[in-house]
Amino acid sequence: MHRHSQARVVIAGAGFAALEATLALRAFSKGAVHTYLLSLQTDFVFTPASTRELFAPVPRTRWPLHELALRAGAALVPGALESVEPGNRRLITPEGDAVDYDYAIIAIGGRPEPWLTAPGLTFSGTDDVPAMGRELDRAIEQSAAGEQVRVAFVVPPGVGWVIPAYELALMARRYLNERGATEGIAIAVVTSEDAPLGVFGQGASQTVSKALADADIELHTGAIVRSWSDGRLWIVPDDSVAANVVIALPTISGPRVRGLPETPTGFVDADIDGRVRGEQRVFVAGDAGPFPVKQAGLACQQADRVAAAICVDLGLSAPTLPEWPVLRGLLWSGDGDHFLRRDLAGGRDESLGTVSVTNALWWPPGKVAGRFLTPFLHEIEALELVDVPVHH
Ligand SMILES: Cc1cc2nc3c(=O)[nH]c(=O)nc-3n(C[C@H](O)[C@H](O)[C@H](O)COP(=O)(O)OP(=O)(O)OC[C@H]3O[C@@H](n4cnc5c(N)ncnc54)[C@H](O)[C@@H]3O)c2cc1C
Repeated sequence: MHRHSQARVVIAGAGFAALEATLALRAFSKGAVHTYLLSLQTDFVFTPASTRELFAPVPRTRWPLHELALRAGAALVPGALESVEPGNRRLITPEGDAVDYDYAIIAIGGRPEPWLTAPGLTFSGTDDVPAMGRELDRAIEQSAAGEQVRVAFVVPPGVGWVIPAYELALMARRYLNERGATEGIAIAVVTSEDAPLGVFGQGASQTVSKALADADIELHTGAIVRSWSDGRLWIVPDDSVAANVVIALPTISGPRVRGLPETPTGFVDADIDGRVRGEQRVFVAGDAGPFPVKQAGLACQQADRVAAAICVDLGLSAPTLPEWPVLRGLLWSGDGDHFLRRDLAGGRDESLGTVSVTNALWWPPGKVAGRFLTPFLHEIEALELVDVPVHH
């Protein structure tokens, strides 16, 4: 007899969505499914902390994946996902190896892409921190030599997650001020949003606008940048902003998984609960899926729903989950934390977003709010602190 306890759930990827799904499956099924993580990574990297790496001490940003998998009760299968054969219930690696599943969760994230040719860089995470440091240090030298430097942080249209542009601008301002480069370097945020952090509602827009104004950072909203030339960012239709250093957020495209239906931009197409269109046993969670806001907290909410749906399919009970999507964002300004929360579920008044400067709106109060993952990582850190030898 096929027993539920023998169900094999294979999760491709080992980022936020994959780990949250692993933990949720364990909690909801009470250990009654076997979970496998198909991944080539050795570490789980906490990208959201990368905005602060140049400017201030950061919380831990890397965990050995084998340790997380062990503690979460999943087996690691080394390999990458190349394609899916839903008819045969197999994930296929680039080497042609097959990994059988009863249920599969695609959690391989999106693909950050540079989109603007300009002096400066595209900031997609930790790997870009040294280049940003070099750009700011060069700006300080140029300004000391009497040149007027203009640094622009640019949010392209359609970007999945915009907080990094504001964090980088605010923390860069402090970095430059602390090095005596206050007058000679102007900073601007140039964003395609109608209002800064508009996705969080009016309160957040007002809070971040004030923080930018207090820091003497120019703000250009509704600005669709089409190109850079002659020291200016050119904005549709015929506006421009002076900028000789451009730090842009990437656009994000889909991972294009062969064998699965996709949106025009290559994201795995699925219904609102993450079940891939036309497939009963394949799900997607996180940035690889079609939801337009690409955010780790939302990736975790999707992963919880997918885990619950699989448990229900298996005839196991699953808890009723809180309404989603709920956006929770922590903006580091270098001058205090700003907690932002907004219920995205349909038809709500956009002013309903909540803003709290310094007081946490969730717990543990980390950068990413995941129901299982956030306390899990927090607990590991606490255990490791206990292990630190005490010197008398
Ligand atoms: C600078 C920056 C700051 C951010 N700040 C925040 C923030 O403050 N709060 C927040 O909630 N979100 C933030 N985000 C967004 C957040 O990082 C993403 O939304 C989140 O990482 C998405 O999680 P995921 O699990 O879907 O994908 P990922 O975290 O990208 O994980 C996918 C994993 O799959 C692996 N993989 C890729 N391809 C394959 C393959 N073919 N086979 C197997 N494995 C594969 C990758 O190695 C990767 O580790 C930020 C993003 C950036 C770039």
